[in-house]
Amino acid sequence: MVATNDCDVLIVGAGPAGLMLSTWLSKLKIRTRIVDKAPTKVLVGHADGVQCRTVEVFQSFGFAQRLVDEGAHINEVVSWALDSKGDLQRTGRIPDNEPGTSRFPHAVLSQGRIERFLLDAMKDFNDLTVQRSTAPVSMSVDQNLVGDFSPNSYPISVTVRRLTEEESVPTQLGAVPNGLHRSNLLADDESDAAKGTKEAGAFDNAGEEETIRTKFLVGCDGARSWVRKHMGLSLEGDAAGAVWGVLDAIVSETTFPDIRLKCTVQSKVGSILIVPRERDYVRFYIQIGSTKPGERFDRSSVTPESIIETAKKIMAPYTLECSDFEWWTVYEVGQRLCKTFSHDKRVFIAGDACHTHSPKAGQGMNTSMMDTYNLGWKLAHVLLGKATPDLLKTYSEERYKVAKELIDLDYKLSRMFSAKPKEEGGDGDGVSLAEFKAFFKSLSRWASGTAVHYLPNMLVAPERQPALAPGLPTGMRFESHLVVALADARPWHVGDRLVSDGRWRIILFAGDIREQEQKAKLEQVAAYLDTPDGPIRRYTPPNDDLDSVIEILTIISNPRISVEPNAFPAILWPARKPYGSRAYDKLYADDSSPVTPNVRGEIYKNLGIDPKTGCIAVVRPDQTVSLVCALDEHKQIGDFFAQFMVPRA
Ligand code: FAD
Repeated sequence: MVATNDCDVLIVGAGPAGLMLSTWLSKLKIRTRIVDKAPTKVLVGHADGVQCRTVEVFQSFGFAQRLVDEGAHINEVVSWALDSKGDLQRTGRIPDNEPGTSRFPHAVLSQGRIERFLLDAMKDFNDLTVQRSTAPVSMSVDQNLVGDFSPNSYPISVTVRRLTEEESVPTQLGAVPNGLHRSNLLADDESDAAKGTKEAGAFDNAGEEETIRTKFLVGCDGARSWVRKHMGLSLEGDAAGAVWGVLDAIVSETTFPDIRLKCTVQSKVGSILIVPRERDYVRFYIQIGSTKPGERFDRSSVTPESIIETAKKIMAPYTLECSDFEWWTVYEVGQRLCKTFSHDKRVFIAGDACHTHSPKAGQGMNTSMMDTYNLGWKLAHVLLGKATPDLLKTYSEERYKVAKELIDLDYKLSRMFSAKPKEEGGDGDGVSLAEFKAFFKSLSRWASGTAVHYLPNMLVAPERQPALAPGLPTGMRFESHLVVALADARPWHVGDRLVSDGRWRIILFAGDIREQEQKAKLEQVAAYLDTPDGPIRRYTPPNDDLDSVIEILTIISNPRISVEPNAFPAILWPARKPYGSRAYDKLYADDSSPVTPNVRGEIYKNLGIDPKTGCIAVVRPDQTVSLVCALDEHKQIGDFFAQFMVPRA
């Protein structure tokens, strides 16, 4: 029997990782519960950088524009260092992202606002909210049921307890409250802050316990993860930590000309990272010390004023006066990684629970959200009976690789940042300006999040040799370009057709179908896809729309008006239930729209696809390219899906 407190997925922790997962699962209508020990979401401070790839994912859920409008945008990174006379000089400017990396900016906005967007989305999608001031106290996994993925099998039981105010509210750091100027909160966050108080009854049920039966448990509960500990796992690596002073302040007066640009400043006194923030705030990151394993840093000497005093010394002779310290912290972190992110295909960890590193590359929040963006659709596929549980193995494989790369790069970045400046060609351990600049440049693509590259596995076919589309490597995110809809001449970014709704996409780059041979190839592909044993009908429930599991999008290379929509086989623009209207939004051309004649996405050229012969790309629900093959290799599509998809009766 299903009890009301049973769920399919229980998430512990409602930081960026937990909220991204609950947003995904809400969108896919999965029965989800999410608990967090804190009484409110983050309100100010914490992480702030949102890389281009994360913005693309927000777009696929429909709320990227909120971030783009509210956030500061990082376009250029400037380095400052001492010249041979010992004077601080601007030593280089590089674009924050290589031109063409993404159509979205690298934006900077408080973690609390990112959490707001996710909280709003999960509420909108499936009325899901976070159960706050609640933490797990015990868990058990029934080994007899672990391999039983039938609908009524709940192998995991977790007992959670409602916390008291003392247990739930994080302690403030030092005498000056670290953050929370209520007057700075936007109206939608103000109500959240108010809800987490005694007056609002947030702690009325303190001490109450509840046992939740669940099919999957996901620990998104940060660096000190309770779930990780109960999986018998730990973070391994450099227990020594870098200690960072982080401060968000309004700069009331400065002679430093680049205060609204992202800057690294290296002087004899130390290094500082400056990040322009929303609402005229500026974030200062200064490494103020480091700890050896087992050692604790004495935070009592650090205040917002002391952080600014250090900043002033580093930036001298430029002046710097700050007012309105919105948030500050002493952030102590080592480069540490958990050896696996899953157990028994039933319990998973994500985000800071699996990897910790310095804030310098602005990756913590992004990598954490991308962990659960990778996991969410896979859990849903298994829960909805679309795929076998084996595909869950790929979560840890894929995300461990990303986390390992992040930790390795962060290690190098830390060395660059804390090393003393060295004369060009000089001896010693320092880092020369040229090395510093070259390293930062090499980071740009990686830091945008678009360089994530999963290795071949059951969801990522090996790269076809020779590559048919060098711009579409398997294991990387689908790079979006503009196309135009055949039927209504509307320009579309292909990325906007790859919404996060749990569907796979087969993208047919049909080539130039004015050529009879090419048209015949497209018809053969369509005929294959339309057969009862083809991947569309095999995996789509009989009463559902034909595009409900796998959607086919066709992009031709010949001009839009050189072909009529009804020249295409029916499976490529299937009829929709209940009225039988045709799905005109499946057919596109690599062409401009009559209203923007000079704007053409040139998708074939940009992805390196031959405009005569085209190719086929299979794209996962998280927009990762799974398979690329030639049109006449279309049977590979069926072989690919047969590895993990479950045929529908
Ligand atoms: P978290 O954001 O840590 O979220 C974990 C959630 O789990 C929290 O809401 C917590 O209340 C909850 N939780 C924990 N334990 C339990 C439990 N037992 N039961 C129930 N709930 C639990 N990154 C930067 O890039 N720049 C910064 O300046 C920066 N500053 C930071 C300052 C602080 C004080 C902290 C803690 C982190 C900072 N980070 C910063 C890191 C960044 O915030 C994280 O990388 C990112 O938030 C990771 O997201 P997450 O969801 O994995 O974990």
